[in-house]
Amino acid sequence: MGQCPVCNAYTDLTERCPECSDTLEDLGRIYDYYTPYSAYREIDDAKLTNNVYDASRGECLHYMCCPTCAYEKIVPIREVHHE
Ligand SMILES: [Zn+2]
Ligand SMILES: [Zn+2]
Repeated sequence: MGQCPVCNAYTDLTERCPECSDTLEDLGRIYDYYTPYSAYREIDDAKLTNNVYDASRGECLHYMCCPTCAYEKIVPIREVHHE
């Protein structure tokens, strides 16, 4: 089981907005955003499982948003393994 270095505060996630060059805010793991809807949107969730949300790849998907222009982006963070 890997650990996301951003979730565990080993590193900061810093991305620039491609639209206005402001610093994007990390709003956390995308899983947390999709979970509340899973019971109501099973078909969309199945699609999401195939395309984006795939924990078996060992990536933690972070949802980032620009506070200035509301640009949104999903950033995959590769999880690290500690022996
Ligand atoms: Zn993470
Ligand atoms: Zn922006």
